[in-house]
Amino acid sequence: MNELRMPVVAGNWKMNPSRSAEAVGLAVSVRDGVAGLPARSVICPPTIWLAAVSAAVGGGSREPGGIGVGAQTMRAEEAGAYTGETSPVMVAEAAQYVILGHSERRQYDNETDAGVAAKVASAAAHGLVPIACVGELAEERRAGLTAAVIERQLRAAISLLPRIAGTSLVIAYEPVWAIGTCDAASGEDAQAAAAQIRAILAESDPTGADEVPILYGGSCTPDNAAEFFAEPDIDGALVGGASLNAESFTRIVQLAVDAHG
Ligand code: PEP
Repeated sequence: MNELRMPVVAGNWKMNPSRSAEAVGLAVSVRDGVAGLPARSVICPPTIWLAAVSAAVGGGSREPGGIGVGAQTMRAEEAGAYTGETSPVMVAEAAQYVILGHSERRQYDNETDAGVAAKVASAAAHGLVPIACVGELAEERRAGLTAAVIERQLRAAISLLPRIAGTSLVIAYEPVWAIGTCDAASGEDAQAAAAQIRAILAESDPTGADEVPILYGGSCTPDNAAEFFAEPDIDGALVGGASLNAESFTRIVQLAVDAHG
């Protein structure tokens, strides 16, 4: 972890919990757990619970020590005939962050590199923090294509941003084979990916690249998080399963704070 970049730990709740009251309860427990910890902690509930969760935690905030609220996806367009979708304007009413290009959306909802590019630019233009996800499939890793996949997805994700500096961009490196499998990457492999990501960002904007928090995601838990946070280019985590337990999530935030010093 680099002392200039504030740690960011985001919880991707995916399609959980099933009931609004449970979502609100979890949000309040997380807010209380991370209160005052010098990190940007973020919870990303299902879209339908965004407004209730946001209200329960006081609207959410990007400030360290508070709790941010994020969506798990959004449409790039501001309005129009997009049945079932959510616009950046709607997301921005309840949230400060939005996860984009998650591998589950790429896999199950045909999200493309071009689509992710449009969404990242739209999120930034609407004052949201885009958390853009990149990462290789198991077969791509076996074929030695990890770096090529990261490069392709990352170059696409930032391609429509006018600049990196000041856009508040966050990148999450999430090897797809590590998501929900209990088979996390090694700290060394995650650092290699994060260093590659920072080098590509630096090609477009050498100063802006140093501002960008790069997160590791994929079976990150309180038991292995410290290994990632010890790496110089990893500034936090995108956490799935472990974010559904307030204590586990808070512990990961605490480990990020400890590593930041
Ligand atoms: C995720 O879905 O972004 C994720 C990292 O999930 P998990 O932590 O459960 O692997």
